[in-house]
Amino acid sequence: MTNMESGAARVMSRADILATYSESPEHLTRAYLTPEHRNAHDQLAQWMTQAGLETWQDSVGNQWGRKVSSNPTMPTLLLGSHSDTVANAGKYDGNLGVILGLEALALLKDVELPYHVDVVAFADEEGTRFNTTLIGSSSVAGCFQPSWLEVEDAQGISMGKAMHDFGLAPTLAGHDARVASDILAYLEVHIEQGPVLEAKELPVGVVTGIAGAKRYEMTVKGMAGHAGTVPISLRQDAFCGMAQMASEIEAYALSHNIVATIGKCDVLPGAVNVIPGEVRFTLDIRSLSQVQLEQCCDELLAKLANIAAQRNLSFSHRQLYQAQAVPCDDALQQRWASVVEKHTQQTPCFLPSGAGHDAMVMANVADIGMLFVRCDRGISHHPAESVMESDVAVALDCFTDMIQSFAN
Ligand SMILES: [Zn+2]
Repeated sequence: MTNMESGAARVMSRADILATYSESPEHLTRAYLTPEHRNAHDQLAQWMTQAGLETWQDSVGNQWGRKVSSNPTMPTLLLGSHSDTVANAGKYDGNLGVILGLEALALLKDVELPYHVDVVAFADEEGTRFNTTLIGSSSVAGCFQPSWLEVEDAQGISMGKAMHDFGLAPTLAGHDARVASDILAYLEVHIEQGPVLEAKELPVGVVTGIAGAKRYEMTVKGMAGHAGTVPISLRQDAFCGMAQMASEIEAYALSHNIVATIGKCDVLPGAVNVIPGEVRFTLDIRSLSQVQLEQCCDELLAKLANIAAQRNLSFSHRQLYQAQAVPCDDALQQRWASVVEKHTQQTPCFLPSGAGHDAMVMANVADIGMLFVRCDRGISHHPAESVMESDVAVALDCFTDMIQSFAN
């Protein structure tokens, strides 16, 4: 067994151990400011200490470990991901990146680097408890909103109260934010949560950026009527209009290389013998390019309005949500690509992230670089989430080289 193989085996067994810190023994759920958050972080802190790292908990309950440099003339390199989970989660979303960073630093224990390297486990990314996502990284990146302290969980406990009960001072939340000048770069390794690497038969891939997203609710109105008496040519069938819109959306997304999803659709009045008078549906559109996202949304909305007009239907839309696209730093992408090529002997795959990650918040204070690890059938946010130890070994090799590469 080589050093790296034993490192990957340890990463796998630690992922199993971390998964035992859960609200229930039957399934993995670990939410922010809970006893399982505390216990998982105590475990991480113990592993960090074993790896020779200096450890601390920050103002919002993130767990940190630092490989101290004797000559820190440069800013600090940050490695991170999240340690919280969705309800009934898999073991690897977020946690794999934290454990891999920790293992890479353990392997580099006796290697002197001319900069500090910090590994951080962000205590909340998923928003499972308070529906407010990315609390951990927002605090570090200086984006913590004091109004979040008033947000309540399902039991009516405010975030401020939960912080206080956890032993944190809510008034200090986010006051220990890092500043850009102190950060060399932010690196995150994460499972892909999609099927692209598996389809390409590659263990890892370089992330080009995190897609921006817009979500809308659309309303199409026509005229309800008797399903037996109104001839097709005289109908204002809201559902048939919406069906044509759905085809247009799919074709448009395919030809413009974006993703668009109608995840929800209500047909009214919703009776088997009544012509639909109204349809409400949601549209989620994502693109790696913010400019393209804006352009595509404008163009698509115009096309949908046109379809409605041709069919004598009314059409309206309301934006529900938007998130900016965040590109990964070009130089960091190239740096990842060269370590990936070295360790896989294959041309590196570059791919976008359709899901959000802590890196997109950290981009406010640092250049970000992300590496994806192949996961089985792209399954994530599910107990069946799984990765191969051999892929983890490749990711660990790449991460370890990447961390050292800033010395050159
Ligand atoms: Zn994640």
